[in-house]
Amino acid sequence: MDIKNKVFIVTGGASGLGAGTARMLVAEGASVIIADVQDEAGRQLATELGQTYVHCDVTQEADGQAAVDAATQAGTLFGLINCAGVAPASRIVGRNGPHALDLFQKVVMINLVGTFNMSRLAAAAMSNNTPEPTGERGVLINTASVAAYDGQIGQAAYAASKAGVVGMTLPVARDLSKVGIRCVTIAPGIFGTPMIFGMPQEVQDSLAASIPFPARLGRPEDYAKLVNSIITNEMINGETIRLDGAIRMGM
Ligand code: NAD
Repeated sequence: MDIKNKVFIVTGGASGLGAGTARMLVAEGASVIIADVQDEAGRQLATELGQTYVHCDVTQEADGQAAVDAATQAGTLFGLINCAGVAPASRIVGRNGPHALDLFQKVVMINLVGTFNMSRLAAAAMSNNTPEPTGERGVLINTASVAAYDGQIGQAAYAASKAGVVGMTLPVARDLSKVGIRCVTIAPGIFGTPMIFGMPQEVQDSLAASIPFPARLGRPEDYAKLVNSIITNEMINGETIRLDGAIRMGM
């Protein structure tokens, strides 16, 4: 599967793993729709890369459709990379207790329902593609987290939302196999992005040191390389792949 001359949507593309993925795809000769709610950062990156920015809250049907329409106008929408996500900490009791229900719903809405919303809209457009010689019409790549398997205190909402993404990967892949669309999820460990940079430096250092090998935080390029491998290898399907340097968090 060739990335060149295809069109990809990257949600959460204004920052972190999504921005790294957008850079990789453009370097490979693709067109990219950067879909995010951070308009300034998104527009800036799109201008730098010569690509298109679309304001897209992944939880909103009309926003998602606008991103898909921009992609199909640009050419053949071949891939959706779902990177949009939020990870606010919240305890089930205590300091954030009174807000826990609202926060839980918001996190699940963005991380899980948003992923589903974007996937169904993109898949509907991709199913009209002329198939590749392999029979393939497109690929959906989601971003879960190792928190899906190993959630820490304060991560009930985040871990639940990411476990939901892992859970839907295989049924979506099976469902879309009849039209030649794959669905694959990446479960990153700890990556150096704004999501992590908000933590105190000593916490970041101890997290990096707890990664058995390569004993450093993951980089957006590490994530983008796996996205590239998934796009170009049609045998990878219905799977969640950990990308975590063998970290296991424990308590
Ligand atoms: P990031 O904060 O740099 O990027 C997340 C992006 O998502 C931001 O640009 C943000 O504006 C966008 N976003 C948030 N809500 C949105 C919405 N409703 N609609 C559209 N866009 C929205 O963080 P990142 O580390 O690059 O995270 C990317 C993905 O990777 C997330 O799903 C995150 O949960 C996951 N992840 C990150 C790590 C890590 O260590 N950084 C680990 C595991 C999983």
